[in-house]
Amino acid sequence: MKKVKSLFQVMLYCFKISIEASTFCTLARVLIKIVLVAIPILNAYTMRYIINLIATTYSEDLLSSLIMAIIALLLLSLTSYLLGSLSAYIVDVHNIHMKNSIDIKLAQTAVQMDLKHFDSPEYFDKFSNAKRDSSALITITWNIIDGFGSFLSLISAFCILAQLNIVIGIFVIVSIIPSFIVSQKYTRKIYHWEKENVMQDRQCNYLYNIMTGKDCAQDLRLLGIGPYLLSLFKTTWSAWFGQKKVLLRKRTIFTTIANLNPIVISTIFIGWIAVEIFIGKREIGDFTLYTSQVQQLQTSVTAFIVYTVNIYDSKLKVNNIQSFQGIVSDVVDGQEIITGTIDSIEFRNVSFSYPGCSVPVLNDVCFKVESGDSVAIVGLNGSGKTTIIKLLLRFYSPSSGQIYINGKDITQYDLGSLRQKFDVMFQEFNVYAFTLKENIGLSDLCNTSKNTDARIQDALRTSGADSILNKLPQGLNTYLSREFSEEGVKLSKGEEQKIALARMLYRDSEVILLDEPSASLDAEAENKVFNTIKELNNGKTVIFITHRLANIKIAKKIFVLENGRIIESGSHDDLMKLSGRYATLYNYQAEKFSI
Ligand code: ADP
Repeated sequence: MKKVKSLFQVMLYCFKISIEASTFCTLARVLIKIVLVAIPILNAYTMRYIINLIATTYSEDLLSSLIMAIIALLLLSLTSYLLGSLSAYIVDVHNIHMKNSIDIKLAQTAVQMDLKHFDSPEYFDKFSNAKRDSSALITITWNIIDGFGSFLSLISAFCILAQLNIVIGIFVIVSIIPSFIVSQKYTRKIYHWEKENVMQDRQCNYLYNIMTGKDCAQDLRLLGIGPYLLSLFKTTWSAWFGQKKVLLRKRTIFTTIANLNPIVISTIFIGWIAVEIFIGKREIGDFTLYTSQVQQLQTSVTAFIVYTVNIYDSKLKVNNIQSFQGIVSDVVDGQEIITGTIDSIEFRNVSFSYPGCSVPVLNDVCFKVESGDSVAIVGLNGSGKTTIIKLLLRFYSPSSGQIYINGKDITQYDLGSLRQKFDVMFQEFNVYAFTLKENIGLSDLCNTSKNTDARIQDALRTSGADSILNKLPQGLNTYLSREFSEEGVKLSKGEEQKIALARMLYRDSEVILLDEPSASLDAEAENKVFNTIKELNNGKTVIFITHRLANIKIAKKIFVLENGRIIESGSHDDLMKLSGRYATLYNYQAEKFSI
């Protein structure tokens, strides 16, 4: 009972996706299937009629009947042929719709996912299983529709044979069972094996991607590790395939043996009916009708069982897709939309460890930033500075403690409206394979004002990227990559950082968060960036992270972070007077870089 329920659940899920992808294609496929099942039955009866006519003595009446029967046969064949072609076209279109619909579902899940999931191999395993099995949904839908067709054929062939002798029908069905058991056993074995070995498969894909992609192309050539990666790929693949091949071989041997049964049974039946006709017990046309129905019954029983087992076994595949879609977010969206200005941001006793890591990255961090402040968070690499920004933007949730905005816990705010309040430039920024205009404009897609180009140019000017714009062959419409355009350009890291800064400025939100905004810039550009920050601070709240202290004096408040704790805070002058960690760091850099 449980199995039947599972079977129907899987069928319902796939049917829903199939209808969502295209209602027309789904219904057309079912209707065509019904007609295509009816045609062979009509064909068999027409053939029996024709053969019986041929076997009788000639008369003019019979000749016209024969001609009519042949025309009927032709019409049946033509209909079957045309519907076959139409069906192939509809299946192709439907499969493409379904693939796209499933891809969109997976992408929708992925873009809404908490960042914490991207830190865990479990996410990638779940995604890999879901992605692999998503194409199986297309096959399952095909199995459901064809399984339905086989069921109709099975019933009709059984009824026709039952008119002759019901025992024959039962025998034919029973002879199929061993091959069904074997095929079911191996399908499951192979599926479980694939699921358990998905990591090896992912490793192969990873190696393949880094060998063929752009990201590691430089390293590969510089370090000369191409042959090493290739041999690693070959070894991993061989180990993976070696095991799979054993299973495939065993499946072939056992199904071949089991499939001998139906061959023997049908031959015995052919012999029996031939003798019955020979001794005059039956008409000659019965031979084609019943032998064709035995074959039809064998084929449809086998197909029906295989499809049913496939659908049942696909429960695991469907589970994989549902399990990926069902990954729950820790970062629960709040209800309240932030409409007013941001007057204060406060961290109260915030501690945090990254998922799966026991060592805390932040320890009991407390600080408050008021509207219009300019705050610098300084500290050595790895001290937890960027993590503070990630928590403020709710990419992760604190392990303990709270973050308040305007005196309210940030978990109460609607995520979209909260993030909309911040202009952020991360240390690791992306320049997309889009045009310059799109690269800047995507930070504020809600803004559909007509003067977009002018605003983009302003942002480029303020970030110091106007000189980049001047040298681009197609101005704002130049692609910032050569992936999709021959005229695209590849910018230097420093130039890309200016673009990222312009993107941030274009968004024009209330609070500016900058993570090492000058990391890839030359000294002149760095100065310009800090002057821009200073200007932005007239009216905006600015929080910037830096371990370069050359321009630190623009900050009114400085928090010094060490091993996840704020160990000192105050203005530059206060901290220098304190002669503590900040003063040591500042003096060290002043000496080394003459600041
Ligand atoms: P900072 O910005 O001060 O250089 P971060 O806040 O980026 O430091 O990182 C603080 C610590 O957290 C570092 O030790 C870093 O290795 C670790 N860390 C950062 N991101 C992750 C992550 N996604 N998973 C696990 N550890 C992380």
